[in-house]
Amino acid sequence: MNAPFQPHILDLAGYVPGEQPQGGGFVKLNTNENPYPPSPRVIAALGEAINERLRLYPDPLATEFCRTAAALHGVSPDMVMAGNGSDDVLTVLTRAFVGPGELAAYPSPSYLLYSTLIRLQNGTEHVVPFSAGWKLRAEDIVRPGLKLVYLANPNSPSGTALSRQEVADLAAAIPCPFIVDEAYADFADDHAIPLVRDFPNVIVCRTFSKGYSLAGIRLGYLIARPEVVEQLVKVKDSYNCDALSLAAGTAALKDREYHDQVRDRVIATRTRLTEALRGMGYTVPDSQANFVWATDGPPAEPTFARLKERRILVRLMKYPGLQPGLRISIGTDAEIDRLLEVMREPG
Ligand code: PMP
Repeated sequence: MNAPFQPHILDLAGYVPGEQPQGGGFVKLNTNENPYPPSPRVIAALGEAINERLRLYPDPLATEFCRTAAALHGVSPDMVMAGNGSDDVLTVLTRAFVGPGELAAYPSPSYLLYSTLIRLQNGTEHVVPFSAGWKLRAEDIVRPGLKLVYLANPNSPSGTALSRQEVADLAAAIPCPFIVDEAYADFADDHAIPLVRDFPNVIVCRTFSKGYSLAGIRLGYLIARPEVVEQLVKVKDSYNCDALSLAAGTAALKDREYHDQVRDRVIATRTRLTEALRGMGYTVPDSQANFVWATDGPPAEPTFARLKERRILVRLMKYPGLQPGLRISIGTDAEIDRLLEVMREPG
């Protein structure tokens, strides 16, 4: 039954998402979910949507949601497009810009899905190494025929981020669409949305999975110039966001006080975890995300196995040329205390 498949599909290893254990009882620090529940306003909005919206198809253009996101970011509603998680947004962008044999660039180490998306299009990958201090040089990115560039900012697994000025300098040098994937921007000092005004190639992606505690509903969005959004709408599925997700996301965006409180708690725990891990001998870059990356300390693999045995899940990350590292999501203070207790046990 192999014959009907395109060769590039047969060659594809396929993206492997982080482990989602189906049994309970895990301290789950492996896929950067938020440890706190979503805003109570989200729960209320979902109740209302269940009563009123399930019978009908959702709004294909997510009009109310886009209006709310646009107001929050100071852009016009025709600059917003919603997706079924930011992974869906990234898929739409890759389908729109990368054809067979065409070149798309992404940094490494970074989000591994970019590679899978390019390969699904039968495109060609240009993998760009970070330079010292987690910086990127435009001359390492730009190549003849480049069709698309991805940048996770803050980056995963490092947690580091380029400043808005550094992103602007790259945008000016990159001659093609430039995705700034801001999945973790809720926890960062800076973000790139204002650049969309000056740089027609910049497309910023956001998600509800991290900063809004809504990984389970699958909702993300992009912000780009209206003439870009107008084309991308043709590429997405008509009903790519369901009515419940849109109701939840709209309510979540409106509750700024709750969002900011949760963010501040996560950041305080991140500072504490970073210091504790450095005290144990790990190298931990300053994180601007809801996770930290611990490398070059006590060996990562046995520590990962010991944590898992105690039902604490973190992510073991292996990239070519780098020591294996542990990417640890920021949990509640009690979860992080438990993690540190097990990590400090003699191995
Ligand atoms: N971008 C980056 C950099 C991520 O780490 C993730 C989370 N896996 C995503 C996008 C996808 O987020 P979503 O849940 O919105 O699909």
